[in-house]
Amino acid sequence: MAEKLRDSGSFKGGGEKIWPHFPRLNGKGKWNFLCAYCEMDLLKDIPTWQSSHDDHILPQSKYKSLVNEPTNHAPSCCFCNNLKGRFDAAKDEPRFRDSKFLTSEERTRFIDAAKEHIEKKRKEKEKQFEQLKSILESS
Ligand SMILES: [Zn+2]
Repeated sequence: MAEKLRDSGSFKGGGEKIWPHFPRLNGKGKWNFLCAYCEMDLLKDIPTWQSSHDDHILPQSKYKSLVNEPTNHAPSCCFCNNLKGRFDAAKDEPRFRDSKFLTSEERTRFIDAAKEHIEKKRKEKEKQFEQLKSILESS
């Protein structure tokens, strides 16, 4: 199954890079294709699949040696990817500037830090959304 998905390049042509490093199984032994940050099913419908992203866990603008490195990639929904922006989970650790790969521990740690960042941003967006709705409803 993994080979088939990898070969099909089902993640916008990047599947072969991501699948070996992102094996997620559901209870039925089938591959899940989930946002690394909110766990949304990225294959729930065509718009979700088509707007999903091949996220660079550490931003490609700063970590050139990790741009094409599979361990620095993760599938992401459009919303999480936008909220994450250029968030740099390793900003206090300059050694990652020249890293050739991320260990699974580092990967997990950076994804968890990004989740926290995204959650804060999400709360801000929720506030803005409620304000916008109340303005529109009262006018
Ligand atoms: Zn998400």
